[in-house]
Amino acid sequence: MTDQYAVIGNPIGHTKSPMIHGTFAQTTGQDIEYTAIEGPLDGFAGAVLAFRDAGGRGMNVTAPFKLQAFELATDRLERAELAGATNALKFEGDRIYADNFDGVGLVNDITRNLGVSMKGARVLLLGAGGAVRGALKPFLSQEPSALVLANRKPEKAQDLVKQFDHPALTSLEFNELVGQQFDIVVNATSASLKAELPAVPAEVFIRAKLAYELAYGKGLTPFLRLAKNAGVPQLADGVGMLVEQAAEAFAWWRGVRPDTRALIERMTIPLV
Ligand code: NDP
Repeated sequence: MTDQYAVIGNPIGHTKSPMIHGTFAQTTGQDIEYTAIEGPLDGFAGAVLAFRDAGGRGMNVTAPFKLQAFELATDRLERAELAGATNALKFEGDRIYADNFDGVGLVNDITRNLGVSMKGARVLLLGAGGAVRGALKPFLSQEPSALVLANRKPEKAQDLVKQFDHPALTSLEFNELVGQQFDIVVNATSASLKAELPAVPAEVFIRAKLAYELAYGKGLTPFLRLAKNAGVPQLADGVGMLVEQAAEAFAWWRGVRPDTRALIERMTIPLV
């Protein structure tokens, strides 16, 4: 029988997950069906349990349900626990396992696909929301010499620094970034979704090798434009992260890791 998987979010019309997982299933020869479910805003848990009880094997979870999925899980893997959020569930009997592949997907895209090593690098991470929480452990495991957080509400970044308590991890306010230099600058704010620019000074890009925008499919966002104008040689958006986190979930569910490169190339919108 064909195994059932789904992504749940609200709204969900924009999702690329059925196409991505459909491609993975085809290229790896796995017999799965993957659909998109618009979860009711006041009925997330009911929708997940109904899917599971009808034979569903696993789900991806997207906005605004990543925290509720975390609460619903019976067993949380370390990455989900540290992020306080989950983007993938696996159903086994009456257990609901939760993991979070966003951070590892981002690191895989930067280090493997874009060929930029984070070891010994000075990394600036803008934002302090769910994506940043999920990225901190995978980023720190790459052993950067410094990982600096900067967020519009600085206390959120300061809280994360306290919680993760790692010698390489610090936070600065946006205005304290003047005169600071970094090898990699990552925009994990949602500013680009509204075509806004986080208040980051252009100096942070002076010696940067890579500017990475988590939002995807938006072309040259204000953040990427600032980086380009400052002469950053390599620009990327989050399409690679999206495909890489999907590949991690697919491997977790099916025990087979799909190849990602051709799909990322096919989905990439030129950053011009
Ligand atoms: P959250 O809502 O959890 O956090 C939003 C963050 O953005 C906060 O730190 C917030 O700051 C900051 N922010 C919002 N607007 C502005 C602004 N105008 N200027 C400066 N900072 C701002 O979002 P997520 O962490 O879940 O997502 C962040 C981004 O990452 C989104 O663009 C999302 O689409 C993208 N994403 C991409 C993925 C991929 O696979 N490529 C996966 C997951 C996320 P404050 O705390 O001060 O309000």
